Amino acid sequence: MPQSLLADKKSLVIASHNAGKIKEIGNLLAPLELTILSAGELGLPEPEETGSTFQENSQLKALEIAQASGMMALSDDSGLCVDALDGAPGVYSGRWAQKTPNGPRDFNYAFKKLFEALHDKGALPPYKAKMVCVLSLAEANGSVRSFEGIVEGTLSLPARGDKGFGYDPIFTPDGHTQTFAEEPALKASLSHRQRAFDLFLRDFSG
Ligand code: IMP
Repeated sequence: MPQSLLADKKSLVIASHNAGKIKEIGNLLAPLELTILSAGELGLPEPEETGSTFQENSQLKALEIAQASGMMALSDDSGLCVDALDGAPGVYSGRWAQKTPNGPRDFNYAFKKLFEALHDKGALPPYKAKMVCVLSLAEANGSVRSFEGIVEGTLSLPARGDKGFGYDPIFTPDGHTQTFAEEPALKASLSHRQRAFDLFLRDFSG
């Protein structure tokens, strides 16, 4: 799969410290035959997400890691947006799972908080939501390009499946009955990350 922009680049850094994302992005990149490193492996600190949109956070992470490593960097900013909560938790998806500002992420806590917020709003099922992913590819010279993927679905409890990460156990994509955490092949075929990656490949192929 020759990629014009990637053709002369032999290595790429995944600008993420999230093990679930690194695994999925590593699988997506595998056919490109690049040497893939992660920001954590290079000992680079996790950039602070100061943006208010997925695109801003995605670009700032890719640029910071590209500049710190001197290599091409691919970042992913993603999250869950719930219709009845006006798009929350959105860019705060990771932070909703933290009981304290820099504490560990506990997604059972995030699920509880999410359904309490829906209850407080008086929202009724089906709880429509979407997962959004913005991938950004940055070079050390400061150039950056972004690609957005979205998948629509519904949220439900109890959480089902242990094969995904984050909000996967409560998210069922439209037209299906299994959650993203129950069936990795389902997630791989139509996820927000896969869709963003399809655009990335289309942009760089040929
Ligand atoms: P961040 O982009 O590193 O801030 O992380 C966003 C958060 O969104 C993650 O910690 C997960 O909670 C959630 N998230 C992002 N992508 C996915 C996904 O593919 N499945 C489930 N949750 C996700």
